[in-house]
Amino acid sequence: MQYYSTKHQVPPVNFAEAVLKGLPDDNGLFMPTAIPTAHEVVAKYTAKPQHTFSELAYDIAVKFLSPTFTEQEIREIVTTAFPFHAPVVTLDAQHHVLELFHGHTLAFKDFGARFMAQVMSRLVAKSQEPLHILVATSGDTGSAVAHGFLGVPNIHVTVLYPSGKVSERQEKQFATLGQNITALEIAGTFDDCQALVKQAFLDTDLTKKLRLSSANSINISRLIPQAFYYFSAYFQVHHLNQPVVFVVPSGNFGNLTAGLFAQRMGLPIHQFVAATNANDVVPAYLQSGNFQPHASIQTISNAMDVGNPSNFARMQDLFQNNLAAMQKNIVGYSFDDESTRKAIATVKNKYNYTIEPHGAVGFLALEAYLQTHPQTTGIVLETAHPVKFYEVVEEVTGETVPVPERLQVWLDKPKLSIPLGKDFAGFKEFLMKNF
Ligand SMILES: *Cc1c(COP(=O)(O)O)cnc(C)c1O
Repeated sequence: MQYYSTKHQVPPVNFAEAVLKGLPDDNGLFMPTAIPTAHEVVAKYTAKPQHTFSELAYDIAVKFLSPTFTEQEIREIVTTAFPFHAPVVTLDAQHHVLELFHGHTLAFKDFGARFMAQVMSRLVAKSQEPLHILVATSGDTGSAVAHGFLGVPNIHVTVLYPSGKVSERQEKQFATLGQNITALEIAGTFDDCQALVKQAFLDTDLTKKLRLSSANSINISRLIPQAFYYFSAYFQVHHLNQPVVFVVPSGNFGNLTAGLFAQRMGLPIHQFVAATNANDVVPAYLQSGNFQPHASIQTISNAMDVGNPSNFARMQDLFQNNLAAMQKNIVGYSFDDESTRKAIATVKNKYNYTIEPHGAVGFLALEAYLQTHPQTTGIVLETAHPVKFYEVVEEVTGETVPVPERLQVWLDKPKLSIPLGKDFAGFKEFLMKNF
């Protein structure tokens, strides 16, 4: 399969090139020329309730990764990437939670990052040329990517994150690793970090010296595996015989875009609900038809503090810039921090379930959606474990969130990050000197 740029200024490339480049030279985003159909996968697993996540993942992955990789290699990629699962927890008939935090760094980004790491390490091994991955993070991307690549030969990862704007527990998960992982603490916002990464890719001195790649949700090899858990969730609820709606707490909209891929492949998803915090660019667009990016606003659901969602170009591409078609398929809502805190309390009191701020924004959006669509199986994507946002969660619920062992290990280690300003010249100099 070939991958084209959403800007159409460069010719399509094969999967390996799309993954290793990350971004096309015209600064668009890679998209598959044809999204493969998976109707037989839907038929197979609706009739087969007992299956593992990696078994299902294989049947979908093979459509994207063959013939770049052999069936044996694809089998290894999915089994190494996904030794965990994505369970749906039922709160009541309408409210379900898809827990995406059972991976190594307790957030949904483990799915994309681990799959990408397995794919890239095999591609790099084939080409023998070391790769330098630049990743900007507002929290969870950094740890998921750093852990996914930790110790992988021929690949170095540099993580950029906004100083003081990620929680300590998030920071500890990517800033303590050492080995082939460098963490840069940038005096700026997440958007500044993202801008530095984007500019690095356009800088010829850097691209001559280093073989750069990206690992943000813009990399197509992170997006593809995120489609897998929509399938998995659907098979866990389809027996309820109601329209299935996915509520996606969103920032850069990679997660929601992956859901659109699953739907295009033939998974019977009735609609999507895009749930945001005060960074409401996409819900506002769905209302008004005007796409107006702005500087990011800081909230308690900080992994969604994105003022210019990078995957919006892919969404536009999937709907061929047809606003009405997008509105028919995606309903948008945004909520402030106060409502989010209340929702954490409501979910705890009503269902005895601990939800973190991103999931709580999703829960609010589902409540709003159910007002007009009561006969719905609503699935909120719980994008992180509550322990990652324990300050807010514990304050609201009055209960301590136990720390899972896979997190405690990192909390006990010293931070190794290097502070840098947000100017490109300083960032460039750092890379030129050190690598
Ligand atoms: C990254 C992230 C999001 C936003 O996902 P996008 O794909 O960028 O929309 C939501 N919640 C958490 C916990 C995240 O880490």
